[in-house]
Amino acid sequence: MVARSQPRWQTPDWKRDLAQAFTRPAELLDHLGLAPSLAAGSDGAARQFPLLVPRGFADLMEPGNADDPLLRQVLPLARETAVATGYVADPVADTAASIAPGLLQKYAHRALLITTGACAVHCRYCFRRHFPYGAEARRGGPGAAVAALAARPDIDEAILSGGDPLMLDDSALADLVGALGDIPHLKRLRLHTRLPVVLPSRVTTALCALLADCRLETIVVVHANHPAELGDAAAAALRSLGERRLPLLNQSVLLRGVNDCIHVMKALVHGLLKIRVRPYYLYQCDLVHGAGHFRTPVAVGIEIIEALRGHTSGFAVPTFVVDAPGGGGKVPLMPNYLLSQSADRVVVRNFEGLITAYAQPDTYERHDPSRCASCRARAGAGVEDEQEGVAALLSGQERAIVPEGYAASHQRLTRIRWAPIKAALAGQDDER
Ligand SMILES: *Cc1c(COP(=O)(O)O)cnc(C)c1O
Repeated sequence: MVARSQPRWQTPDWKRDLAQAFTRPAELLDHLGLAPSLAAGSDGAARQFPLLVPRGFADLMEPGNADDPLLRQVLPLARETAVATGYVADPVADTAASIAPGLLQKYAHRALLITTGACAVHCRYCFRRHFPYGAEARRGGPGAAVAALAARPDIDEAILSGGDPLMLDDSALADLVGALGDIPHLKRLRLHTRLPVVLPSRVTTALCALLADCRLETIVVVHANHPAELGDAAAAALRSLGERRLPLLNQSVLLRGVNDCIHVMKALVHGLLKIRVRPYYLYQCDLVHGAGHFRTPVAVGIEIIEALRGHTSGFAVPTFVVDAPGGGGKVPLMPNYLLSQSADRVVVRNFEGLITAYAQPDTYERHDPSRCASCRARAGAGVEDEQEGVAALLSGQERAIVPEGYAASHQRLTRIRWAPIKAALAGQDDER
């Protein structure tokens, strides 16, 4: 070991660390004292999505362990190129969510910028491993996405994603963050990055200052899947971001053979809290080509939440989500705690299995917008109170969400005198 006069994360030349990263499976396996045959037949997978592993991340792997959970995340395998039905290149319909070059929107009030296709580590389960970064970039650079955001006053949060936004160097990042800060209707800036974990040297004092000094409320969302990823250097990098009062969240992907174990998950969430990172999302692994061997049944995620909720601090429990195919976005899933209900009671069960009846109030005067200061102020300002989706059904603003094509297969509905449904169905027919 070479003695260092300063912590590793302060080394300014993260690009040098990146240039020294492993790019060949044989080299990484040799470094770990493992047989090259572990990567046998994986040339196709490695050509499609080359191996890329920073040395610091490889140093967190256990030498001689072919099943090391960090190694599993990054080692190309022959089975990635096996054709499996149901698996696609774009499992969450990102390309259909594009509203401008390099800008995706699936949710109200926030949009996601594909800042770069580059990342410091190539995770084999990456849901954007087949994303057409080149084609997106040819449609227009970050300027096009920034211009599109400037023209959308309804969007108040910009999410920098990729690839990894911290692969931009400080000057490119400062330009982008500055341009976003100049858009008056933006309030929040979010960075989704794995670099503080896999390339902690990227988190320089200058970077922390750049993010902390941004006009927008800035939030950093990192990505760690296993407690062994939280080495000293990553912990120091995250601490230095935290010391600049940047809120830190983590998202994980649930991966077979990596973290599909309640003990590993518990160690991960506690490891994160120790360095002031709040567990945010636990994702079901997407149906992306090449990641089939990582997928677990949805039930495994539910079982993990069952083992965490109530058994550890509430803020240590991430929200388990499935990214719905077809661009449906994140759908939260959890064990059922509400067992039944009557007009005056709900029956709930707790994390221990205790089942209790919980009395509802005898009377409830519904929230009255005319007596609510907040609603009155909005009405006074002429803001329309329009709900969307299921919230609109609950508020009575909509009476049905009708699947496309419903009219054709449900002729009997024409006999129902329910004007909104008929109007909705007629609208669909017109569109065809
Ligand atoms: C995940 C995601 C977001 C962020 O969703 P949150 O629930 O706010 O974290 C935004 N846009 C897209 C396209 C996403 O995939």
